[in-house]
Amino acid sequence: MDWIAQQRSEQLKAWAKELGFLASGISASGYLEEEAERLEKWLSKGFQGKMSYMERYFDERLDTQKLVPGSRSVVSLLYNYFPEEPIQSEDTKIAKYAYGEDYHFVVKDKLKMLFEKIRSHWGDVEGRYFVDSAPILEKAWAVKSGLGWLGKNGNLIQKQTGSFFFIAELIIDVVLQEDGPTTDHCGTCTLCIDACPTDAIVQPQVVDGSKCISYFTIELKESIPEVNRGQWKDWIFGCDICQDVCPWNRFAQTHNEKRFQPKKDVLTKSQTEWLEMTAEEFKKLTKGSPLERAKWSGMIKNVQHLRP
Ligand code: SF4
Ligand code: SF4
Repeated sequence: MDWIAQQRSEQLKAWAKELGFLASGISASGYLEEEAERLEKWLSKGFQGKMSYMERYFDERLDTQKLVPGSRSVVSLLYNYFPEEPIQSEDTKIAKYAYGEDYHFVVKDKLKMLFEKIRSHWGDVEGRYFVDSAPILEKAWAVKSGLGWLGKNGNLIQKQTGSFFFIAELIIDVVLQEDGPTTDHCGTCTLCIDACPTDAIVQPQVVDGSKCISYFTIELKESIPEVNRGQWKDWIFGCDICQDVCPWNRFAQTHNEKRFQPKKDVLTKSQTEWLEMTAEEFKKLTKGSPLERAKWSGMIKNVQHLRP
């Protein structure tokens, strides 16, 4: 690897750190051969449920050169969202990633700044950046780039910080120095599999998305089937159980992103308060939060599912 690629990789990682990213890792842009079979199997079993978007762009999902033609490197970046303390009401819980402002805006702004910095120093660089907004196997890229391993709960896990972070990608037409993968440290632990209330982790590293509380409360637009009623443990938007029980999250450190400051008035609403809320009040309360995407009718549906 030539010294320019090495120097640029170091520079990029330093800029990412300055901008608040937890860590970054690099791979050459291309086809994720080892993931093709895995994705095909996952889809053939129907684990995507009604998330039909997972079936689209199959080739792009596996190949970043198809997704971003002319690209040479995939930079995976982690952005911490671990809060100071859990916040919940007496009978509702919301996933930690949704405590503050919608990450799509927050992390996208950071990616934009990083890309602008790169272009201002390196000249005419072409590329695209995403956070949960493109058909890309973000966890597989992050693993390939040495940012952690795929835990049995299907999340990317870092030894130093656990798993409460967003994964973003910057794909550019610049050759950079690749980081190799790291090692798996789940060992004989099965805490996440044992703790999942809906048995959605069907085998290590394989989550049946169509059984997951996050899917039911965020992705599913139609009514929630009666299965597992009573097992949801108060989750009304997402679920953190398989991350909360993971021993590696003992090392999670509080984020310092002001825009992720918890919206306590949202997080502490009880089931009754949600059910009594009008659509107008919901709109006002959740403006700029990930909950906005669930819409009022979605949240009412989620809360009603917890009731006997
Ligand atoms: S998020 Fe919750 S429901 Fe989904 S796999 Fe993890 S523990 Fe199970
Ligand atoms: S709870 Fe245990 S098995 Fe599950 S991801 Fe964490 S370390 Fe791995």
